[in-house]
Amino acid sequence: MSLIVIHNYINGELLPPADGEYLDTYEPATGQVYARTPESGAADLQTAIDAAQAAFPGWAQMPGEHKSQCLIRLADLIEANHDQLAEAEARDNGKPVTLARNVDIYRAAANIRFFAQGLTQFSSESHGMENRAINFTLRDPLGVVACISPWNLPLYLFTWKIAPALAMGNTVIAKPSEITPMTAWLFSRLCIEAGLPAGVLNILHGSGPAIGGPLTTHPAIKAISFTGGSATGTLIKQATAHQHKKLSLELGGKNPTLVFADCDFDRTVEQVARSAFANQGQICLCGSRIYIERSIYDRFVDALTEQVKQLKIGDPLDPQTQFGALVSEDHMRKVLGYIDLARQEGGTVLTGGKQIRLEGRCADGYFVAPTIIAGLSNQCRTNQEEIFGPVCTVQAFDNDDEALLMANDSDYGLACSLWSRDINRCHRLAQQINTGIVWINCWLLRDLRTPFGGMKASGSGREGGLEAMRFFTEAKNVCIQYND
Ligand code: NAD
Repeated sequence: MSLIVIHNYINGELLPPADGEYLDTYEPATGQVYARTPESGAADLQTAIDAAQAAFPGWAQMPGEHKSQCLIRLADLIEANHDQLAEAEARDNGKPVTLARNVDIYRAAANIRFFAQGLTQFSSESHGMENRAINFTLRDPLGVVACISPWNLPLYLFTWKIAPALAMGNTVIAKPSEITPMTAWLFSRLCIEAGLPAGVLNILHGSGPAIGGPLTTHPAIKAISFTGGSATGTLIKQATAHQHKKLSLELGGKNPTLVFADCDFDRTVEQVARSAFANQGQICLCGSRIYIERSIYDRFVDALTEQVKQLKIGDPLDPQTQFGALVSEDHMRKVLGYIDLARQEGGTVLTGGKQIRLEGRCADGYFVAPTIIAGLSNQCRTNQEEIFGPVCTVQAFDNDDEALLMANDSDYGLACSLWSRDINRCHRLAQQINTGIVWINCWLLRDLRTPFGGMKASGSGREGGLEAMRFFTEAKNVCIQYND
């Protein structure tokens, strides 16, 4: 079968990389190369920057209503191509196609629609000062901004970044993950179909060293919205420190799940399994450290293990599949390495703990069984480092204080979920837990108006709603005195 050849999207055109370099793109379920992705370089970057700079004045000054219509056309086209995009995402990433249909692609369109509508509501703030003066705040677009996204939710996170950036009048250079370029490639063709003005959005494909790093340090880039690993976030922060760019860093997680004896038992088992293993555990928000009140620990762990054993592992393109492949061979090796480490650290594997060999077209795919590990201390590396795969640990606690201590004992601070019917306890703990998001009796429920982001090594800055819209603007206070 012939390989799909991906192009960059620069100045409204689909272009091959200037120096002709490509990367192999693998289908995780089969382990086979199925596409070639541009390994863009300095010349491609400069062409994209020139295009974005030239497009900026026109886009920034375009009436909000018109910008909104351009973006809504993009959301409409994502919806019109929903099934094709979902299949492409499943094939490229290894996630179950049903998940891609119900979550990823649905959310990609919703992200764009949300900010397209939001921009028409966004207005300046003003504050009177004791009958003496009035202040108002001007919010101008920044110019050319960079949006860099990871492989786990490819089109979902890509649109989550470009939508507010474009809505606020910036022009964008976006760099999707080189591991999962396919839906950004399909999206660039939708941009042409939608008639998005040339240069407003430019998509450069390629690796971090080849294009990600040079993009972030390019002097024309005014702001960087980055989602990815904490180590990469640190590199970007260091490399750009002298340039004083605006940075929004959404980084890794090692999220605690707290299960109390008074939870709705059956529903909690089901939802905790989902939170640990959705997308093969490759969501930054997945609950990977599960703490359970001792009085229900044995019963809960047994029920959770049974629930996880029922997950249907299979070809991501099969609509019945609930659990697909890991994104790459490297990532699978990393995850299996952590399972070995957990055993060395004294852990007991309750289920999973190994690579899975499927039959037929998926015989060489990157499948690892969903894995639950017990018997580890909170301090061990398995419980402190982000694995970002289908591996979670279970531990018992005796009271709220101990649960809180264990939950906060981490360098990360992205998300936590609490499962209890005691509303006072939930409120108290929600205030004391050091994570940017606390879910109570739910997981992954998102209102796009609310702030999204992490504390500590999980990042700095917030996305979502007004937070994202403000990030992509420069605020200027104007103070007028009208009375001495
Ligand atoms: P990664 O950091 O390796 O790569 C992310 C993106 O950055 C990719 O597009 C990559 O090419 C690019 N990149 C790599 N090096 C770069 C550099 N030096 N300069 C600029 N760009 C560079 O992360 P990944 O493996 O793609 O994604 C997994 C990580 O993302 C996990 O740690 C996960 O927790 C995190 N994540 C966080 C969130 C969140 O919202 N907090 C969401 C999803 C994923």
